[in-house]
Amino acid sequence: MKYSEVKNYINGQFVDTDSTRKLDVISPIDGKLLSVVPMSSSKDLDSAVMAASKAFPSWHKTPIKERVQVFYRYKSLLEKHLQELAELCSEENGKTIGESIAEVEKSVELSEFACSLPQLVTGEVLEVSRGVECRTEHVALGVVASIVPFNFPSMVPNWTLPNAIALGNCMIMKPSEKVPLSVGKLAELLKEAGLPDGVFNVVHGDVEIVEAICDHPDIQAVSFVGSTKVAKIVYKRATSNYKRCLALGGAKNHLIVLPDAKPDMTAQNVAASMSGCAGQRCMASSAMVGVGNVDHIIDKICDEARKIIPGKNLGPVINKVSKDRIEKYITEAEAQGAKILVDGRNTTVEGKEKGTYVGPTVIDYVRPDMSVATEEIFGPVISIMRTNTVDEALAIENANPYGNAASVFTQNGGMARYVIDHASAGMIGVNIGVPVPREPFSFGGWNDSKFGVGDITGKSSIEFWTKLKKSTTKWNPEAGVNWMS
Ligand code: NAD
Repeated sequence: MKYSEVKNYINGQFVDTDSTRKLDVISPIDGKLLSVVPMSSSKDLDSAVMAASKAFPSWHKTPIKERVQVFYRYKSLLEKHLQELAELCSEENGKTIGESIAEVEKSVELSEFACSLPQLVTGEVLEVSRGVECRTEHVALGVVASIVPFNFPSMVPNWTLPNAIALGNCMIMKPSEKVPLSVGKLAELLKEAGLPDGVFNVVHGDVEIVEAICDHPDIQAVSFVGSTKVAKIVYKRATSNYKRCLALGGAKNHLIVLPDAKPDMTAQNVAASMSGCAGQRCMASSAMVGVGNVDHIIDKICDEARKIIPGKNLGPVINKVSKDRIEKYITEAEAQGAKILVDGRNTTVEGKEKGTYVGPTVIDYVRPDMSVATEEIFGPVISIMRTNTVDEALAIENANPYGNAASVFTQNGGMARYVIDHASAGMIGVNIGVPVPREPFSFGGWNDSKFGVGDITGKSSIEFWTKLKKSTTKWNPEAGVNWMS
């Protein structure tokens, strides 16, 4: 085992749990045992919540300009440890080192945004009648929780922790049991940056701990990022306990390709979008709708896909269960009459035979009712459907229950605007395969890709992590009294 057993992080210390239930942490690159992660109990959560509750009064009374100083230092530490964080991320998740570096760089950008929060939470004040002033303030919620998935071990935790903490909350984070190592390193860096003990805590585990978070009476808000199935469970359970909840779910992102699209640029974008991070991104495109004759572009997409080599510029998928599920989708589509243009099944990488690799896969002549067309695959696979008109393409996109992202590839500005107006997704790209809005813009889908109000990052996150206090004051008793005073 390469690393020692993973520990919870409570009140600024790495601590053991009483739990006897443990899971192996396996690298998907070569099947090597990296560590063992404990499945914490509600008793462990109680300790974390107690530490966070104790830290809260002093932390939220610290002026925000002082609180964000921690994140200036944290940002510099992320930059200083970028290579080390990226290597750890690649080891546990499998993504290529270049993808991990980009993920940590994105974490840096997220902490930069947190440093700008004092400029964004100034509140408002107005004299609403003679001598009477109304004023608003953003007030921290208290102890909050963040439950995160396996596909971005560093970036997704940084979607929530810098903003929630800079805004005055104390946090319990529940990492994915598949990739529990990176968050421990983030905790160390936060401590080095000067974050007081108890403000950030980590509790490892699975279903049991997630349920305990949703039920805990002293947790005020829960953010969740993961599959739609679990997002629904968490949203329902947390809100039925009267907590604020924002739960981001899975995705099926459509790319609409028109015949006038620039062929090389489109092909490169489509191939990168479907295969980046081995297709394990909630912003990955896994369905393409070609409008009219786009055969010349599909040929180029296949050429681009063939340049993506497992073990070189393509990492493995997270585990064997995932590999088998993805390959089953491809086989099923083939049996239903789709044509496999590039086939990534049965891929192995020399010297890494225990790695769980799936090669890039391009499937053409997919019908909109096939499961490869409708379901999230979460692997480097694109399913191509054909229509005659943009409206038919939009009807396919609109009919899908998810709504994270959609993109259009065209040189026609009017058509691009038409797709922006009519696609039923929260994040739209024009000639961009992965239309992630960068800070200060916020990240969040629609429909079955997100439950709750607002978005998880950017300016929108301020509303989620704070409550608004409205005060009305009067200091001139000599002014007349009427209903407005
Ligand atoms: P997942 O839903 O299996 O797990 C997410 C978290 O929930 C983990 O911490 C896990 O321990 C916990 N969990 C799993 N099953 C649970 C259950 N039955 N009850 C309570 N908790 C449970 O997701 P994953 O496989 O880790 O991540 C991949 C999914 O996340 C994909 O669907 C992807 O689209 C989605 N995702 C969405 C976004 C977004 O912004 N919308 C971003 C990243 C990932």
